[in-house]
Parts: sequence; C-alpha cells; structure tokens
Amino acid sequence: MHDKTVAQLSSALASGQVSSVELTHHFLDRIRQDDSRYNSFITVTEEAALRDARTADERRQQGNATPWTGIPFAHKDLFCTNGVRTTCGSKMLENFVPPYDATVTSKLREAGAVCLGKTNMDEFAMGSSTESSFFGATTNPWGEGRVPGGSSGGSAAAVAARLVPAATASDTGGSIRQPAALCGITGLKPTYGRISRYGMIAFASSLDQAGTMTRTALDSAMMLNVLAGHDPKDSTSIDRAVPDYTAELEQPLKGLRIGLPKEYFTDQLGAAMEQTVRNAIAEYEKLGATVQDISLPHANLAIAAYYVIAPAECSANLSRFDGARYGYRCENPKDLLDMYTRTRAEGFGSEVKRRILVGTYALSAGYFDAYYLKAQKVRRLIQQDFINAFGEVDIIMSPTSPSPAFVQGEKSNDPVTMYLEDIFTISTNLAGLPAMSVPAGLIEGLPVGLQMIGDYFSEARLLNAAHQFQQVTDWHQMTPGG
Ligand code: GLN
Repeated sequence: MHDKTVAQLSSALASGQVSSVELTHHFLDRIRQDDSRYNSFITVTEEAALRDARTADERRQQGNATPWTGIPFAHKDLFCTNGVRTTCGSKMLENFVPPYDATVTSKLREAGAVCLGKTNMDEFAMGSSTESSFFGATTNPWGEGRVPGGSSGGSAAAVAARLVPAATASDTGGSIRQPAALCGITGLKPTYGRISRYGMIAFASSLDQAGTMTRTALDSAMMLNVLAGHDPKDSTSIDRAVPDYTAELEQPLKGLRIGLPKEYFTDQLGAAMEQTVRNAIAEYEKLGATVQDISLPHANLAIAAYYVIAPAECSANLSRFDGARYGYRCENPKDLLDMYTRTRAEGFGSEVKRRILVGTYALSAGYFDAYYLKAQKVRRLIQQDFINAFGEVDIIMSPTSPSPAFVQGEKSNDPVTMYLEDIFTISTNLAGLPAMSVPAGLIEGLPVGLQMIGDYFSEARLLNAAHQFQQVTDWHQMTPGG
C-alpha cells in the first residue's frame, strides 16, 4: 500500500479495495516502526488521524468524497493546525497550540484528507539541511548520516521513506525543491500568491510560498488543485481562476522550448551532476522539445540579494516572539526588558539569531539604502532577466542543487557554504516564479533533481513537462535502499 501514489490510493479508496481507516493504520504503523531512524516527524497525531479517517470513510459512503477523501498526508510544522501544536522547528513555539487552521490546513481538511502529523524542519524554515531544528536533525532515507536537505527536510524524508504518500511544504529560497531533489521526490513551488500564506508561520513574507511534496507530478497536480486559489485572508494571494492542474498532463511536449542558463552550467558544476542533468534534458529532446542556451546575467547576485532581503523580512516578522503574546517565555523575568531579551536569547537558535542580526542591521537607518534598497533593485534586475528569457523559451532547466545529499555536520558550521546550496533555486523566489524539482538520476546511489522554472502561473505546463518525463523515466519510482 505504501508504495502506491496518491492517485493510486485514491482509486483504491474509490473502488472500496481499502478503507481510509486501514490506510491510516498502515501509514501510522510505518511511522511508528521507522521514524526513529529518520526523525522526520515532530508530532504524530494518531488519535485525530484515526478519527478523521473514520469520518472520511463515512463521507465516502454518503457519496460526496473528493479525490483526497481518506488520503493520509503530513503537514510541514509551520502550517497552523487548530488544536495541534505547531512548532516551526523552534523552542520558541515548542508548546504553541494554534486556535485556528492555516488556509492550506483547512483546504486539505475540507477535501477530507487525513493528517498524520507535523514534519520536522529547519528552525523557522531557515536552512538547507534540517539540522537547525530544535527537535533534532532529520536523516535522509537514502543515506545514513546524510542530510535530507531543508528546510522542508522532514516532509521530504517522510515522503521518500513512504511514511506518507504526500506532504505540504514551503519554499522561501529553495526549501521545497532542494529537499525534494536530495530525497528523490517531486516538489512544486507555485507562483508567489497562488496558494494562501494565511496561517503559514512567516519567515520572509515577500518570498514565502507553500507547495507540494509528492512522488509524482500527477499527485502534485492533484494536490495543487486543492491548495491553489484566492484567499481574502491573505492580501498577497492572487485572485485568478484555478485551472484543473491534471487536465493538461497528457499534452505532448513537441515544440516545447527549453532554455539552459549559461550562468548555471559552468565549470563549477561537477561533471557527474552536469552529465546527469544533461541526460535528463536529452529525454526531453526525445519527447520533441528543443533546447537552447540562454542567459540570466544577474544570476550571480541572487544569493547576496536574498541574504539581505530574507533576513530583513525575518527580523521584522520574528519581532512578534517577545514572550508577551504567545510561545516561549523565560523563567522569572525581573522586568520587561529582561523578559524580551532572555526570551529571545533562550528561545531562538543560532541561525535564527544570525538572520535577525543581519536583517536588523540592513534595515537600520544609514544602512537601509546601502543594503536593503540596493538588494531590492538587484531583485528587480533578476526578475527582468527571467522576463526576457521567457520571451525566448517556455521552461528553464538546471540542476536543483549543486550536489546530492551531503553528510550531516559538513556544512552546519559554515553558513556561507550552506547558503550556496540554494544557488539555483533562490532567484525564482526573488522573481516570484513557479518551479519544480523532479527526480532525474542518481550519483553514487544518491538522488539528483532536475529543476524546471516556468513563467508566472505556468504550473500546468510545468506539471505537464514533469509528468511526461515521468512517463519515460523511472527515477521517481526508485526507493531508498533499492
Ligand atoms: N535555504 C534557504 C534559507 O536558509 C531557503 C530556506 C527556505 O526556502 N525556507 O533561507
């Protein structure tokens, strides 16, 4: 059962071959048996899951099931879940139980999906390895002692290890695509504003976007069907019709124009990585696509601009954690200032503090123009590069990450090396574009992801391209440990 995709499980539920209660038991058993190895979950909600599964089975009997009714899944632990603690991987929110659902949460709930728990993540989604979680690091099911990527490493590891068939995730600079690549699954970050951010704990609000982690593009399309759409509770969500994302999956790719940014295919890219990605692109040529070189002239500025803008926004967003409103409060504060300072000193981990310091500095009077404003101007240039490129091509392809899963501890003491993990993914967040990572090969037994970037609101086309690739390759079917 656990090897089936969401689409297959959905059919199995529809035909009565299995019940949601049975499925839920099955996946909960797997989590219980295997997750001590991966630490992909922070919270497992066994009781609520079984209750929701019973409700789902009843709903199906009444004849008003959706394709998601009864399907088990997990939420990244930054989506607020009414009555279920939501930690964001931080001591600051270790015991925070939200009194409301995020829109992502309520949409899956309304569809009848069964949440099994909340997945591990880098603290406040800041990181690329899921090592900065207060709840301990997550291990990549593909290699003991290797990181699953981050920040959505718990969701990626859980899907890769078949502990759940799908999970939610979020992507501010690569946190869906990079862990999807490192864990050999399919990840989609939609256009900024396509999915509501309401109730998704904020890191950098102009970059954060929720998305999907599944094994196949079809499952991702099914999930986006549930999640996409305008939300009056999020003023940055976009009021635009939601297509059926599964409708165009079977379109042939003949004539699809693929662009390869010369700034991404440089000598710095290892030979094995380059070969793997080029082999994947060759599959697209066989499917009728044409390939040309393109240029994103400001690509080399993306990391620098991001590491001003994202910390600036995080320093503002995280100012709400002050010990007064909710979350952690230090013991016996002697006065108000002591409460603020000790609460934040004790409640946040070192990467979060580093970002708050950098962001506060960049926003301070006297430095604002030199850093923040400058970074925003660079951001506009990066966006313009993409707009120009999409005048010539339909989809831009590159590796998702510079290398396969690295060893735990290898980069955690060197922030800049860790930041470079997102060299191929960050510009799309700065531009607000949709992008995916699909499994495209193995290097020494570890998964490699192919990144595909599309024009604004071209999720259907990206999913179509990913689905067609998955019809002629089987990388997405490989399981850790063969
Ligand atoms: N790794 C990047 C960072 O640390 C991106 C994280 C994310 O997308 N949430 O900021």
